[in-house]
Amino acid sequence: MSKTPSRSSRPVLESLSLLEKAAEKEFSANQIILAFDEYLNILAQNPAQQLRGSAQYAADMMDHFGRQELTGHAGSADSGAAPTFRFNVFSKPADPASRRVIGHETVQTQIYKTLRTFARQGHNNRMVLLHGPNGSAKTSLVHALMQGLETYSQAPEGALYSFNWIFPHEKLAKGGIGLAGAASRAEGLSTYARLADEEIAARLPSELKDHPILLIPAKDRKKFLEDFLGEKAANELWQHMPLHLRRGELCHRSKQIADALLLSYQGNLKRMLMHIQVERIYLSRRYRKGLVTIEPQLHVDAQYQQLTLNRSLSQLPSALHGLNLFSVSGDLIDGNRGVVEFSDLLKRPIDSFKYILGLCETQSVNVGQTIAYLDTLFVGSANELQLDSFKEFPDFTSFKARISLIRVPYLLEASAEAQVYSEILEQVSGDKHVAPHTAWTAALWAVLTRLKKPNGVNYSPAVSSLVTALSPIQKARLYDLGEMPPSLGAEDRKVLRANLQKVRDEYEGVPYYEGRVGASAREIKSILLDAAQNPEFPCLSPLAVLREMEGMVKRVSEHEFLRQDVKDGYHDAIEFIATVRKDYLDRLDSEVRESIGLYDSKQWEDFIRKYVQHVAIALKKEKIKNPITGRMEDPDHSLIDEFEKIVDAPGRMNPGGDDLKLFRQNIISQVGAWSLDHPTTPVAYGKVFPEYWQKLEKHYYESQKAVLTRLHDALLVYGAAGMGAPSGNDPESSQLASDTIRNMTQKQGYCGQCAREVITFLLKQRY
Ligand SMILES: [Zn+2]
Repeated sequence: MSKTPSRSSRPVLESLSLLEKAAEKEFSANQIILAFDEYLNILAQNPAQQLRGSAQYAADMMDHFGRQELTGHAGSADSGAAPTFRFNVFSKPADPASRRVIGHETVQTQIYKTLRTFARQGHNNRMVLLHGPNGSAKTSLVHALMQGLETYSQAPEGALYSFNWIFPHEKLAKGGIGLAGAASRAEGLSTYARLADEEIAARLPSELKDHPILLIPAKDRKKFLEDFLGEKAANELWQHMPLHLRRGELCHRSKQIADALLLSYQGNLKRMLMHIQVERIYLSRRYRKGLVTIEPQLHVDAQYQQLTLNRSLSQLPSALHGLNLFSVSGDLIDGNRGVVEFSDLLKRPIDSFKYILGLCETQSVNVGQTIAYLDTLFVGSANELQLDSFKEFPDFTSFKARISLIRVPYLLEASAEAQVYSEILEQVSGDKHVAPHTAWTAALWAVLTRLKKPNGVNYSPAVSSLVTALSPIQKARLYDLGEMPPSLGAEDRKVLRANLQKVRDEYEGVPYYEGRVGASAREIKSILLDAAQNPEFPCLSPLAVLREMEGMVKRVSEHEFLRQDVKDGYHDAIEFIATVRKDYLDRLDSEVRESIGLYDSKQWEDFIRKYVQHVAIALKKEKIKNPITGRMEDPDHSLIDEFEKIVDAPGRMNPGGDDLKLFRQNIISQVGAWSLDHPTTPVAYGKVFPEYWQKLEKHYYESQKAVLTRLHDALLVYGAAGMGAPSGNDPESSQLASDTIRNMTQKQGYCGQCAREVITFLLKQRY
């Protein structure tokens, strides 16, 4: 075969050289290789940024990607509790390929606070242990944190540096023996950092990725910074520097080299530092650079190996020949300056995690005869059963002092839980259409299985009756959107709203807290996948999901949460299927009716809004500006009367009485309270007054029942007609049926198949 270069080889070479140029440019722009004094310039530009420990680095990373304080969080406004934040590093990862963590803002905030505490103490003296039920996103949280660190280390603000030792060839020293000769020969050079490969005899990296400042001996370090940054700035900085950078020493090997060089240079630090090549480091989980996950079956350790076996030792200058140099390696060495994650920490034998906690407390590890000092975050995860048996352990209290426990429960907000499933539904949608409300149906059921009934004894008498009356679905709605039970009057709502945080916190302090037991997201995901496989359903719809749930609740032995005692409707997984189905039917009902064209739900919103406007004017005895004529007019009393009649306002038979006045004032104050809770959004009247919304809906529905019945008949004919064009002998009805289906597909995300399927379902169930 001919070996002549192909025509395309030239462009390939060209693009390679372009690539090379781009890499070179990036290399110098990112300051990847530096001499020690060049690094000092970087340090001088932003000393606080350069002299950070791993905890502060991680906390700064969380700030770097942004955070939002949760104000719309139900109950947060008047709860007086410490603010809760949502950090983008979890909810909007910079790398689109990595997985988002939905919800868990309390956990995120706790992680952040713990990191800041470590930073303040100057020492990560505890392991951060995320614990919770199986499948509660513990690992996802840790991995998001690692991903954030990886991305941050590539940003200018997150630049991290370590160093290598560089030893030039003896030939550079022209026959000189030992290092002193080499250095004198290379008098013109102030650094060996940029020697070409062929000029380098040996290059020894700092295997622990030690910080370059550790090259300045600990006893001189503060003085060094004072000379360099000025006394005041250095003192200020010193206060905030981690212990590791204030007092820490180089790893054993680097220390030996540094000492030997100093000796041979008669204590000249500058000449010792000529051998330093500062290198920017990038954290990477994949390449185990500063980010390491250790599985429970693996033995945690750091190993060492004598370097004499290594060819490069013979190349070292003679000044170093007397040294007994080791090379260290292992998970802990790799994980220095970032995060070491112990997944399923407590699955290890007790001696093993005793050892791990020891490491964590001292931030050091014995390697052979020497000690390696670490600056890294130790993060572990454990499920509740493992933690429970760990607590039985006699030494638990002493262990506890070395652990920061952060609880990661299951989510209790249905809309957040629904977002958890969006990823898997997106995958399914490649093969099968996903009908509206599918994620929500699954999420609501999952949340219902996790809720606990409020216990009256934990509340004051006035609150007790309100909270104990909450049904599971009411509690779920309260948690999700702060939605009050429709049956509650304005005064009760106020009380319940004020106690919302208390309801949320009721089971905080007990072992079986709310969100510990219930269907896990993992279990629900498998329900969704199974439902997608069911050939009986043309689309993946709530109907297919409900069917899978019916199968699941029978497999009691497989799922712990199905074995709980039912208490006043709580923990009743079977009944929850009916609850979800009913809620789904309600949604479906209004969607279908909206698609028939009977009403536009905006009407109710407008009606309530107008009522609030006019009644506010009436209360103030003022006039309202007519938007069309611009004239000042009296409030529209017929509109006010109509509304109050429909919602059956108390005291409306006695227009001048106190009852009606109180009713009206309550309405205004509820709108005011809602606006305070949601300062940036326009008032959603349907959400402030769901019970009035429903009454309006019902009222209009009743008044148009006759029309509806005829339309339903038409849909039945349509439904029975199958896939093709609507048949039947009433062309007007057929037209209506196809219009309805068209509206559902165009406006509500149905396809022709599931639109027909759900209409048939609705008619069968409701009419
Ligand atoms: Zn469909």
